[in-house]
Amino acid sequence: MTDVSTLVICAPTRIEAAALRRGGVQARVETVGVGPTAVARAGAGPVLRSAPAVVIAGVAGALDPRLQPGDVVVADEVRGPSGSRPLPGAVLLAAELRRAGLSVHVGPVVSSDRIVTGAARAMLGVDGALAVDMESAYLLDAARPASGAVVRVVADVAGRPLLRPSTVGRFLTAVRALVRVAPALDAWGAAADERRVLLAGPRSFCAGVVRAIDIVERALEQRGAPIYVRKQIVHNVHVVRDLQRRGAVFVEELDEVPEGASVVFSAHGVAPEVRQAAAGRRLDVIDATCPLVSKVHTEVRRFADSGDTVIFIGHEGHEETVGTMGERPASTVLVEDTADARAVQVADPHRVSYLVQTTLAADEVAGVVDVLQERFPTLRAPASDDICYATTNRQEALQAVAVDSELALVIGSQNSSNSKRLVEKSLRLGTPAHLIDSAEDIRLEWLVGATTVGVTAGASAPAELVDGVVDVLRGLGPIEVVERDITTENVRFTLPKEVRQP
Ligand code: SF4
Repeated sequence: MTDVSTLVICAPTRIEAAALRRGGVQARVETVGVGPTAVARAGAGPVLRSAPAVVIAGVAGALDPRLQPGDVVVADEVRGPSGSRPLPGAVLLAAELRRAGLSVHVGPVVSSDRIVTGAARAMLGVDGALAVDMESAYLLDAARPASGAVVRVVADVAGRPLLRPSTVGRFLTAVRALVRVAPALDAWGAAADERRVLLAGPRSFCAGVVRAIDIVERALEQRGAPIYVRKQIVHNVHVVRDLQRRGAVFVEELDEVPEGASVVFSAHGVAPEVRQAAAGRRLDVIDATCPLVSKVHTEVRRFADSGDTVIFIGHEGHEETVGTMGERPASTVLVEDTADARAVQVADPHRVSYLVQTTLAADEVAGVVDVLQERFPTLRAPASDDICYATTNRQEALQAVAVDSELALVIGSQNSSNSKRLVEKSLRLGTPAHLIDSAEDIRLEWLVGATTVGVTAGASAPAELVDGVVDVLRGLGPIEVVERDITTENVRFTLPKEVRQP
């Protein structure tokens, strides 16, 4: 059973309170009355003034015409006579409610001191408010909880006056939805807490990602849309969506690019056969391959051309693996882990070298290399580490926060290799960790009992997503944010001549 002892759920009427109890809510439910006077009195009383976490749950009137009876509104802002109160934890509660199968909207809720109809009601919705009630702002003003949430189920829709015969039916629809809301409120209460947030530094964009995004942006500016990009320019859905909005067209293969058009190769690099295909289609190529990936391509050619079998330690199917091994496909062999390293067969055990995907975890690779060295004593290593500075720094920074955290949140997309390695590293250190694309992916259950949370972002994840995570954690209670920087990065890569300013 989750600890919801600090949560008080406020329902305006007995019917609403009963619906929540019928939904199995474990937290204390208080019937606080209808309207500003009643809730101000309840909010100033001992129960609510001493409650660290308060949820106001009940029915409301829709202001947005898209909302239907039974739709759930989770307030990210409550507007009342004393001003606006942000509720940044709303997205977490909304996600929990969506998982329960409810139709959920996140946005402002306005509190009014009277029932509003007609033109006055339409006016309340002009600034994007989704719903109107008569309690939330007044109660939060009076109770002043450390963390608050407002969940309202739509009973009457915008534009349809109250107190028609159909009002009763719409109210009952809303009450039935309120029953289904109840378990999520307990989940929110169990997660609400004071926290310390340890921010790993360095985190977020590396020099190779900055350069790749810059290349697409400059290509769009200088050549105009559309600019084709083969594969995701970097492995992050937010970056890809943003560039798509600005005119980039992402394709999987070059046959999707019109002959003669401009195409950018992603930061992960391409095999020579892709370059040949581009030349055959007379494409205007702009290469955004990270220079540190290009370095590994050069090493493959050098080792393979000297007669070695090159063992590439990497992940099968990853674009960097495909591109790098594509340099000398007949001379390279992929090894993913120590089991592969024990089994790998080579033409001549005295002519073997190894290279590494740039985004792997150094400690894992070390174990694989140990096995290879045992099997091939003359094994040749790359001249300098293939695992890039950004990967190494982010792993060390993650370690510095994970060891002191009960939970690590790693911001990055599911196909981001370096982000996945950060999660694995935290798990190896014994700290539960999750890969999230953004704050909306955080599950309330992860936060239960986690009073120190480590936060980082993979090399392809935008920095503002970290702010979003900190913000939603702030919505669950007071937080102390601690920056823990292990080093400062000042690596910059020059742009290719194709997009340099004339
Ligand atoms: S993670 Fe490393 S190799 Fe990959 S783009 Fe960034 S700097 Fe380049």
